[in-house]
Amino acid sequence: MSSTILITGGTLIDGTGVTPVDNDGILLANGVIVALGDQAMKQASPEATVIDATDKTVMPGLIDSHLHCTFDDVQSNDQLFFHRDPTLVALVAAQNLQKVLRSGVTSFVDPDTLHGVGPSLRDALDAGVIEGPRMKTGVQALLTAAGGTAGPLIPDEGTVGYAQVVNSVDDVILWTRRHIKQGADWIKIHATGSTPTHRGEFLVWSANELKAACDTAHALDVRVMSHCRNSESVRAAAEAGVDLILHASFMDEIALDAVVRSGAALCPTFTFLANLADFGASVGASPGMEDVFRNEISATAKMMREAYDAGVTLICGSESGFALTPYGHWHGREMELFVNELGISPLQAITTATKNGAWAMGMEDELGTIEVGKLADVLVVDGDPIQDIKILNNRAKLSEVISRGNRVDLDRPWPDHGRIPNWQIGSWAATSLTWERAYGASS
Ligand SMILES: [Zn+2]
Repeated sequence: MSSTILITGGTLIDGTGVTPVDNDGILLANGVIVALGDQAMKQASPEATVIDATDKTVMPGLIDSHLHCTFDDVQSNDQLFFHRDPTLVALVAAQNLQKVLRSGVTSFVDPDTLHGVGPSLRDALDAGVIEGPRMKTGVQALLTAAGGTAGPLIPDEGTVGYAQVVNSVDDVILWTRRHIKQGADWIKIHATGSTPTHRGEFLVWSANELKAACDTAHALDVRVMSHCRNSESVRAAAEAGVDLILHASFMDEIALDAVVRSGAALCPTFTFLANLADFGASVGASPGMEDVFRNEISATAKMMREAYDAGVTLICGSESGFALTPYGHWHGREMELFVNELGISPLQAITTATKNGAWAMGMEDELGTIEVGKLADVLVVDGDPIQDIKILNNRAKLSEVISRGNRVDLDRPWPDHGRIPNWQIGSWAATSLTWERAYGASS
């Protein structure tokens, strides 16, 4: 049961991109926004819970459109593919989803899930079995035998972790249909991968395979997203009919043109790269990658800005779920990066995580803006994100998270779990015990 809530005072950022205004009243009842302004004040019953937002900002709940809720802040691909029991994956995800919600994310899109548990998690959330944001999800990512970012850990065929290997147009059609039957909201393609002899990720799908996934999914009314980390893959994905392109790294003018013509949306997901570049050393990330990732951000941001100016829909996603992007800590950083790297305004950046996120959820008519009839996912933020966009990436600045019409208890202890057997990779030693290390170089 959702309660009746009246939010008074403060500044309203409604998520549509219009200039913020004074909040004259927002009335929430039965999980929806039922009235605004004078009407909200008039219609509110005496029993309504009143939230005074004076000197604060009222805005739609954030939508994180690139989040891996089953990865549990994973440290390595080996862990991800070979150390995760399916039952534990679902149970641990349920706990992590509380963290996501408590950081102001009231909806998210998960491209691919370990053991394909995404649809079950989504249904458990919607039925109130577990607490967390609204979810839209893929089952597993489709990869070719050439692999993806996990290289040779991907088998030649079959299923492992978040991956489903497809090796022909027929395979693509079969698995697209199977995932949709299992409840996929999105089909996820891993269009680029890395091989030992090739520098950087490159396209590992044929045009026919890409098109088969798009045509099959679209015929069943499901959209397709693709991981694309070079220019050629962005162009090929756009031409095949992919609806949402993740990363879109190093786009050139030809790729950009294909994106503009196709109407695909872009979700650059700079946060993971920026965290590694800025803070990787402090958590012992593989050294030497800082400049590589900085360069990827600046090269990609320039073209992303051109795409934005050409009217391409920009989507906000954090890639939370890795040790470099733990749940509950980084969901708002992408907006700051959009402001700093693309040069768009804080208000425009907020729209990528509200109105545009609702598009990624397939819920544009229900989510993403503060309007009468929309679902009651609302934040009250202590401060002004237009003056300082960084506050949206600081949980301490959240004074209210209202999800599905209910206030989320932000005062409970932060959920966390202890050691789970076999969850992490054990190692015999951090380095080799050479004779010199044992006895000293001069002995
Ligand atoms: Zn991802």
